[in-house]
Amino acid sequence: MIRLSKSCLSHLEKSAVMKVLDKEYLGMGEEVQEFEKALTSFFGRPAVCVSSGTAALHLALQAVGINNGDEVLVQSLTYVASFQAISATGATPIACDIDPDTLCIDLKDAESKLTQNTKAIMPVHYSGGVGNLEQVYVFADRHGLRVIEDAAHAFGTNYMGKKVGGFGDIACFSFDGIKNITSGEGGCIVTNDNNILQTVCDARLLGVKKDTEKRYLGERSWKFDVSEQGWRYHMNNIMAAIGIVQLDRFEDFSRKRRELAIRYDELLTDSNINPIQHNYNEVVPHIYVVRLPSGVDRNNVEKQLLRKGIQSGVHYQPNHWLTKYKKNDKLQVTDDQYSNLLTLPLHPDIEINDVEYVCDNLLRACQ
Ligand SMILES: *Cc1c(COP(=O)(O)O)cnc(C)c1O
Repeated sequence: MIRLSKSCLSHLEKSAVMKVLDKEYLGMGEEVQEFEKALTSFFGRPAVCVSSGTAALHLALQAVGINNGDEVLVQSLTYVASFQAISATGATPIACDIDPDTLCIDLKDAESKLTQNTKAIMPVHYSGGVGNLEQVYVFADRHGLRVIEDAAHAFGTNYMGKKVGGFGDIACFSFDGIKNITSGEGGCIVTNDNNILQTVCDARLLGVKKDTEKRYLGERSWKFDVSEQGWRYHMNNIMAAIGIVQLDRFEDFSRKRRELAIRYDELLTDSNINPIQHNYNEVVPHIYVVRLPSGVDRNNVEKQLLRKGIQSGVHYQPNHWLTKYKKNDKLQVTDDQYSNLLTLPLHPDIEINDVEYVCDNLLRACQ
């Protein structure tokens, strides 16, 4: 079976985990601090580790003061995590349409949905590309909005010569099992804003002030004060030990992901299958998404691929179709594109000849 996505683990992650188990200190301590240091040097800005990408988004939103009655602009075509993180604060996610080329947020549509309650915009770096992120920041400046980037797909991507997370307001990453690097589950918040950093450090440990510093000394606060709502969102040493090794291996992972995507592109040019275009000198692809020719039955294509031992997927069911987030307005591009989107296998353990096999079978299934 050629899997759509998977964790890529070696003996290195396993022995790192064993070391933590041998030390019998499983909570948040030395390894988490070390992973944060490594991430901080990777991004060139401070990173705070948490238990998931969703937790990262939730804490970032809370830290900028997003609250009941506020509205946050976000594209409908994203994982439900983006929407749930927004609604967890009491705010309303305002589902926006996408640009048909990048499948990132359409700022014209976003502009038409601004109200006096709009406090932030959450651009989602769909499949690893950031779309027109510069314009997102211009838009946010003009309308006084905070920017919380959902960069779950964009670990390692560069934009205008800078690493995503290394510039801008706040970027949130995910290290779940299938992301560009994993810590089992996990995520991080990257920003230069010291207030935000302190707030998320406290909020990930139930709002206990300055507990992070204590934990990194192998201690914890017994006498403390709490003034804000917090959560159990910290990362633990087992996760961090995996993350440290994965970050070391990231250069190999990213080279492989790019190679595979470039091979897909080559094999699908001159066909009626239309991949999302990226500049792979900059983008590290998290998923490889194509648009099938209109009129082709996607279910049938997926079934035929599966019969050949090839998994595929669909990223994502639009959120404005879900009961919790349903609205009556149509999102023309999202609704049109969704039914043709198909995600093909992409992870570092796939070989170039697997890509050839996938494309052969895909082209046959679409005839
Ligand atoms: C994976 C993902 C998240 C959430 O990350 P978790 O670590 O799974 O909580 C958020 N947004 C997008 C677009 C994702 O793909």
